Amino acid sequence: MRIEEDIKLDYSDVLFRPKRSTLSSRKDVDLRRTYKFKYSKNEWSGIPIVAANMDGVGELGVAESLSEFEMITCLTKQHDVKKLEKFKNLKKIYKNISLSIGIKKEDFDRLDKVLKEFSFIKFICVDVANGYSEHFSAFIKSVRDKYPTKTIIAGNVVTADMTQELVLSGADIVKVGIGPGSVCTTRIQTGVGYPQLSAVMECADAAHGLGAHIIADGGCTCPGDVAKGFGGGADFVMLGGMFAGHDEGKGKIIKNNGSKYIEFYGSSSDIANKKHYGGLSTYRSSEGRTVRVKYRGKIKDTILNILGGIRSSCTYVGAPSLKQLSKCTTFVRVSNQFNETFTK
Ligand code: 5GP
Repeated sequence: MRIEEDIKLDYSDVLFRPKRSTLSSRKDVDLRRTYKFKYSKNEWSGIPIVAANMDGVGELGVAESLSEFEMITCLTKQHDVKKLEKFKNLKKIYKNISLSIGIKKEDFDRLDKVLKEFSFIKFICVDVANGYSEHFSAFIKSVRDKYPTKTIIAGNVVTADMTQELVLSGADIVKVGIGPGSVCTTRIQTGVGYPQLSAVMECADAAHGLGAHIIADGGCTCPGDVAKGFGGGADFVMLGGMFAGHDEGKGKIIKNNGSKYIEFYGSSSDIANKKHYGGLSTYRSSEGRTVRVKYRGKIKDTILNILGGIRSSCTYVGAPSLKQLSKCTTFVRVSNQFNETFTK
């Protein structure tokens, strides 16, 4: 047994240190980025915020709204040819959507069918809870061999060694995060995880050294956390909980004591397993929770609030654009990031 003594940090362990700035207004901050991906050689431009491939979030309605802001949506694994065919605006938003698959043979088969029908889709997200198995890297290699010009997202991992392994196996973008999610119970069920800001900083460094990119996936609770993800070196930040509870996710609205809620659950929760896979196998346990999120209306308002926050973070640290945010970032370690007097 070994203990790593280095301190590892979460978003809540730090704040941005303000710096002198020449920016006159947050309106001038440019949040668009342009990336060229390592293997696919595809170029993408937009605001690098990504909706998670979770029920109620990775949905076509959400994708339509996010695409107006040039943000990406990872569709849930349930988006097959039939579901996509019904959606008339796919060609309008194709640049900003990603398919999602697991690593079973039927996942690969579904991917083949969808890409045969909709060959214009450019992103494939190969998503497993634990990206550390040899089988996973081998699967990424086979997707890369079959689809040399698609941009492959692969995850999740939290350390530099495995980020490099996935990039060398053919991933353009590595998805980073084990255990930080709002409805994730992995840390409770297994004791496994890595504080998210440190994971992002270490994996970004590893990926950038190889000309690849990362997505900071999970753990953002507020716009400030999204900015901290970018400040820590993330190329993209993925959000689940912060995008849950809106009209566009098409979740059922539950009324209780005069308030409205929408159910939101982890992708490996009991509910998700029952809904999509007919229940959990006996050798597995659920690693996700179900919660009721306050109904929040249109997602556009939430998006504008997040973007306003990030623009403001940039002005506080003197970054004229999102591209410069990490260069302008000095984090200070804190023991308290928020005054909670009137929140309870
Ligand atoms: P959030 O933005 O809600 O904090 O985190 C979203 C991320 O949580 C997702 O993109 C995914 O990586 C992770 N996640 C979603 N569902 C589950 C689950 O059931 N279990 C675990 N361990 N992680 C989940």
